[in-house]
Amino acid sequence: MNDMTLTDWQAKAAALSIEGRAFVDGVYRDASGSRTFDCKSPIDGRVLARVADCGEAEVDFAVEAARRAFDERTWCGLDPRRRKAILLRWAASIRAHLDELALLETLDAGKPIGDTTTVDVPGAAYCVEWFAEAIDKIGGEVAPADQHLVGLVTREPIGVVAAVVPWNFPILMAAWKFAPALAVGNSVVLKPSEKSPLTAIRIAQLAHEAGIPAGVFNVLPGGGEAGKLLALHRDVDCIAFTGSTKVGKLIMQYAGQSNLKRVWLELGGKSPNIVLADCPDLDRAAKAAAGAIFYNMGEMCTAGSRLLVARGIKEAFLDKLVRAAAGYRPGNPLDPRTSMGAIIDRAQFDRVLSYIEDGRKEASLLLGGEAASVVSGGLYVEPTIFDEVRHDAGIAREEIFGPVLSVIAFDTVDEAVRIANDTEYGLAAAVWTSDLTTAHEVSRRLRAGTVWVNCYDEGGDMNFPFGGYRQSGNGRDKSLHALEKYTELKSTLLRLR
Ligand code: NAD
Repeated sequence: MNDMTLTDWQAKAAALSIEGRAFVDGVYRDASGSRTFDCKSPIDGRVLARVADCGEAEVDFAVEAARRAFDERTWCGLDPRRRKAILLRWAASIRAHLDELALLETLDAGKPIGDTTTVDVPGAAYCVEWFAEAIDKIGGEVAPADQHLVGLVTREPIGVVAAVVPWNFPILMAAWKFAPALAVGNSVVLKPSEKSPLTAIRIAQLAHEAGIPAGVFNVLPGGGEAGKLLALHRDVDCIAFTGSTKVGKLIMQYAGQSNLKRVWLELGGKSPNIVLADCPDLDRAAKAAAGAIFYNMGEMCTAGSRLLVARGIKEAFLDKLVRAAAGYRPGNPLDPRTSMGAIIDRAQFDRVLSYIEDGRKEASLLLGGEAASVVSGGLYVEPTIFDEVRHDAGIAREEIFGPVLSVIAFDTVDEAVRIANDTEYGLAAAVWTSDLTTAHEVSRRLRAGTVWVNCYDEGGDMNFPFGGYRQSGNGRDKSLHALEKYTELKSTLLRLR
């Protein structure tokens, strides 16, 4: 981490020139009629940029450009190692612009600068590198067949991929989509969230400079309507969506109403973090439990928002948890010492506080429960813990997407597993135990796409598939399995005689 101070970052922010136009067919463009929306910083509410508000004309234009690039094979027709070289150049450029991109992300999404410089931006660059490195090493199959036949099974790019992403990890969630989609040769139209469009807009230029041909990577800032138009578009072959379960359900409907495009959904969660009585290290587990819900202001799809603790160790564990939570104090996100930034906007802030109000009626408030005030202005919420939560209470069932933890006591392992699985989601889960057999047995029984044992949120590298069971979505980001989403399987049968 570099040694810049709050004053240094503020000076850099004041000098920043911010691009707000859409990037389509290799060029920055205004939306038709010069329509814009104000992109505000959650840090202090100031307008950072007027951003192109893309609608039907821009969606059509971008999809047309993407289709043309795909049909002309300017990208998918390159040898994999040429695509790899270009993608690696782009990743290097993202790394070279680390400070600028991290600053944009912090200003735009209210995330601590210490996180955007070490996690979000390097993570996005790494994701591009990982898929670039993979792409010239993956072959197809020769299937067993009649002796007079040669049967090839290959994967081909699917065509035009639309990626619609949320605001909590803007550049990283986008990279999880566009890196594998581009690596295998697709054209991409990326729609960032209207709440955090700036890094996506900026890296489009870097992609172009690195050699990605015009039309292959397009960025369309805009609201939900732009996402809907992409999901309804008849010339989009695949839509990769990360966001709420509510909108994910609509995306599936749009695909059905239009051209049955492939639909991949990474949605919400209400992940259980289970601390069994034989937890090997209560201090470490308490620190991890605090990080699981307070990191990134709790604006995490994998947030460990339900803490299930064995009744016999609950009091001791909660003491440690409250001490660990003290490490998360809301502060100015531009200060490198800040561990907890601003809530993204007023609507989300009101939503979090309204769940806290519900919690006061449904459970016992152990920590926090108030808005926090920070000198820079903006909207902040204290780390909040509710104890004695019934597992059917609203705060234990619904995704709050804020720093609010529900603690639920249990008496037996079976009861813990039953409560953990009693949710409409299935994104992630964790279990803490000293017993190897229990670890395996409980992991098998947990209905979630990722299970951590004696840790939480490990696996930041790209090797692990990431996605959910049930209403947390379908398909997987990261790992070689992500390539399955952006390719069609083709069987080619050649008769020799
Ligand atoms: P959201 O669903 O409101 O918005 C996500 C994206 O969809 C945005 O770009 C938005 O403009 C667009 N959108 C909104 N309405 C649309 C519509 N009708 N048609 C098409 N697009 C539309 O979600 P959000 O508030 O931005 O993000 C928070 C949610 O994202 C949480 O539920 C969180 O769990 C989820 N999330 C999931 C993962 C994961 O990998 N599973 C990762 C991060 C966030």
